[in-house]
Amino acid sequence: MKNKKIGVFCSGGDAPGMNAALRAIVRRGIARGLKIIAIHRGYQGIFDEAFEKMTPRSVGNIIQLGGTIIKTARCKRFYEEEGVQEAAEILRKHEFDGLIAIGGDGTFRGLIELKKYWTGQVVGIPGTIDNDIFGTDYTIGFDTAIDTVIQMLDRIRDTAESHQRVFLVEVMGRYSGFIALEVGIGCGAEEVLVPEHVVDLEKVARRVIEAQKREKKSIIIVVAEGVSKNDIFNFSNKLTNQEGLEFQTHISILGHVQRGGSPSALDRWLATRLGSFAVDCILDGDTGIMVGEQNHQLVQVPLEETQKKKSIDTYAFSIIHDLAI
Ligand code: ATP
Repeated sequence: MKNKKIGVFCSGGDAPGMNAALRAIVRRGIARGLKIIAIHRGYQGIFDEAFEKMTPRSVGNIIQLGGTIIKTARCKRFYEEEGVQEAAEILRKHEFDGLIAIGGDGTFRGLIELKKYWTGQVVGIPGTIDNDIFGTDYTIGFDTAIDTVIQMLDRIRDTAESHQRVFLVEVMGRYSGFIALEVGIGCGAEEVLVPEHVVDLEKVARRVIEAQKREKKSIIIVVAEGVSKNDIFNFSNKLTNQEGLEFQTHISILGHVQRGGSPSALDRWLATRLGSFAVDCILDGDTGIMVGEQNHQLVQVPLEETQKKKSIDTYAFSIIHDLAI
């Protein structure tokens, strides 16, 4: 029997640990008799036929690198049915037997669409700093990102405490509040605003005043990027003009510094195990799945399931105000 030819690509936002996953796929795959082809720039790379045959040396010295050496992209053409059909045709022409995609829920939606027109195996690996994928406790890149963000929040706290200020700090997370909640807990934020919970900003303003009365020296309000910018700017203005509030209010948008950087030990661990496991699944003939981790165990999750909404930890959310007294 001929060796299976497997394409691997990264798609959506880059995340630290994507390279570690790629390394694991290439080396585990080749060690177990697969032909591994890197597809550059996500789904776009299929249309461009940007294929590179990988060897164990192609992935040398990359486990510690942030970003992705095979590039990633958001590809508009793949949202269209004709685009998916065309991609399937190209994959047939090049005799691919399977694909391993490292990305987020959008990337997995793409795999679900591709499955309608292509009979090759498809396996997804959760790689996104947002940790918003149903079916896996953690996604590759999340641990590194929250560490990076916490370091920045600690610095902001120094300034806030020295000048007695309120800081509204926007953190990444697309439509979810996983980053906001974990960094909020980790830096002792007084408030965490996430899209999953509608918050009464009047109440937040009252709590800020009460905190000042309790002689708190600074207030950090972590805001997930999924919360409306308009609301936040209006809220900041409201605090600035709030009678009885002596603290100045500042907004800080952390932006893309949260994405890059060398992956943490935990992200390397997760990426390496998920990458290897994805290869094992391909060899077992599995398809239409995401590999993930639940309670420290490797699991397979049907791709359709990954499209469900993952809920944030309501217990962690409920203790924030008690911890800010
Ligand atoms: P992250 O959220 O970390 O950025 P993601 O995988 O969710 O990762 P998206 O931009 O949503 O990022 O999706 C990545 C790519 O997957 C898209 O650019 C597109 O090519 C493909 N894709 C997303 N949704 C669909 C869809 N409904 N149908 C076909 N392809 C899709």
